[in-house]
Amino acid sequence: MLVIHVAKIPPDGQDIDAVLDPGLVHLEGEESFELKEGTLKAHLDKGEENTVQVKGRLAARLGLECGRCLEPFTYTIDQGVDLFYLPRHREAQAEEQDADVQLSDHQMVVVFYDDDRLDLGEMVREQFFLALPMKHVCRPDCAGLCRTCGINRNQAKCDCPPEAADARLTPLRKLFKGSE
Ligand SMILES: [Zn+2]
Ligand SMILES: [Zn+2]
Repeated sequence: MLVIHVAKIPPDGQDIDAVLDPGLVHLEGEESFELKEGTLKAHLDKGEENTVQVKGRLAARLGLECGRCLEPFTYTIDQGVDLFYLPRHREAQAEEQDADVQLSDHQMVVVFYDDDRLDLGEMVREQFFLALPMKHVCRPDCAGLCRTCGINRNQAKCDCPPEAADARLTPLRKLFKGSE
């Protein structure tokens, strides 16, 4: 449903209103996050020489696991989409074209497509990876797990000595103290 045949885009454009699932956006087997729900609403317009502009909105809820406390949490994406597709065979001339397009609209992203075929599912997949932060943390001040007893320090306190986390450094500290 998200694979668009450029030749079949009508003169007045084509509307997309899709409910996303992992298969549609090529996320089967993806382990770093899970697509819980999502929608892509967009309008496609074909321009001169088979260029295609895609404008719309991408919204999704992605399920992740916090890298510090290991609790599941949801990351929400709700962003505008503004892409300009060029057929691949024109890539050779694209450097100049890129410059023109980006000058006219800084927000626009240029993408190449092959064989009369745009896969908006692939585009959505890329947008997810671009939108996700490098580190998946449930909240910026997540306290994580105690390295000694494993308790989730967002939810409870433990009596482990704070040094326990840096046990390997203790002998070094003693050394430094001795030389003072
Ligand atoms: Zn966390
Ligand atoms: Zn502890």
